[in-house]
Amino acid sequence: MQESADLKPFNTFGVAARARALARVRSVADIQEALSWAEARGLPILIMGGGSNLLFAGDYPGVVVRIEVPGRTLLHSEGDDLLLEVGAGENWHRLVVACLEEGWFGLENLALIPGTVGAAPVQNIGAYGVELDSVCTGVVALERDSGRQVTLDRDACRFAYRDSVFKHSQQDRLIITAVRLGLSRRAHLHTDYPSLREELDRRFPGAEVTPAQVAEAVCAVRRARLPDPAQLPNAGSFFKNPVLSADAFSGLQEQARHRQLQVPWFATTDPAQRKLPAAWLLEQCGWKGRRIGAVGVHDQHPLVIVNHGEGTGAELLALARDMQRSVRDRFGILLEPEVRIIEGAAGDTSLQQDSPEIVGKKL
Ligand SMILES: Cc1cc2nc3c(=O)[nH]c(=O)nc-3n(C[C@H](O)[C@H](O)[C@H](O)COP(=O)(O)OP(=O)(O)OC[C@H]3O[C@@H](n4cnc5c(N)ncnc54)[C@H](O)[C@@H]3O)c2cc1C
Repeated sequence: MQESADLKPFNTFGVAARARALARVRSVADIQEALSWAEARGLPILIMGGGSNLLFAGDYPGVVVRIEVPGRTLLHSEGDDLLLEVGAGENWHRLVVACLEEGWFGLENLALIPGTVGAAPVQNIGAYGVELDSVCTGVVALERDSGRQVTLDRDACRFAYRDSVFKHSQQDRLIITAVRLGLSRRAHLHTDYPSLREELDRRFPGAEVTPAQVAEAVCAVRRARLPDPAQLPNAGSFFKNPVLSADAFSGLQEQARHRQLQVPWFATTDPAQRKLPAAWLLEQCGWKGRRIGAVGVHDQHPLVIVNHGEGTGAELLALARDMQRSVRDRFGILLEPEVRIIEGAAGDTSLQQDSPEIVGKKL
């Protein structure tokens, strides 16, 4: 247990927050020990992995438990199908690479997403047309109250777009210790996502591609479009893409037409819904490439908030709030953060997290 710990090396925003204590845990017994230590002192607990989806708005007044539980076990293998159980502390991208090397397919579109395996189900990580729930068959977790190990199947995880039960009712109750993945020795490729398709056509024109080549193209597109946190600290997309009802969307489109604006959208699995690119909304509000002191918005990707140097969590949060407010005022849509904001010991640090809704019709 490290007291008064500096969290800067442990969050990809590079925010210099301190925790009352930090425990780096490699087993269930370690986790239980950290929980008891916190309980004996009446301190709150924050579970974290790689810190790539967190914003520390200030110092954390409790115990940060950093999950570093290792392990990869092949639980079952039959014909082309296999079931893998992976320790929550394993690095996600290294797992993707290792699976490709084994000839175990299904994770290729999710290459190069930062963070740990244990955090992947929390927001049902997704990229280039694939989400974790297409391969995750369940998780193993430690129940904080009872100290029991429980397993949740896929349905119990309640996966949705960048969402799961681990962001809601189970957030402070379950600690994921392992994730189960159903993979295949036969490739079922997803190559329709436009930027991925373009990259594949450019690299391998006319050829039938392999899962490794899909992963290679995904990495190339990501490296070209997203800033590397090691060079320019960030937490990826700060906001989710808002999902509107088809009716609300037509209202918005109607308003936009008067301004000669064409509002882009994607289909979702529900034909009554429209998903809007939050990046487009932010770009319309003039956020792309803006800098305010030590913090700013990436010049190629308006959804990515960046820390140019010694920006604080409070400055990053203030910027996020301004961005959220401007989209609400102009389009009547409330952007919901994808990044989890960890409130400090003092101060009003909340960012509205309601579902997106049309609250006005200003354009
Ligand atoms: C450059 C960049 C690009 C990104 N691209 C994508 C992308 O394409 N798609 C995408 O979905 N995400 C993306 N992200 C976001 C991030 O990588 C994912 O959300 C990732 O899963 C976070 O992993 P982590 O280990 O860093 O989690 P952390 O940031 O440490 O934690 C995230 C949340 O999970 C909880 N948590 C962590 N571990 C556990 C556990 N074992 N048990 C219970 N709760 C836990 C934490 O309490 C917190 O609420 C990107 C981030 C960056 C910096």
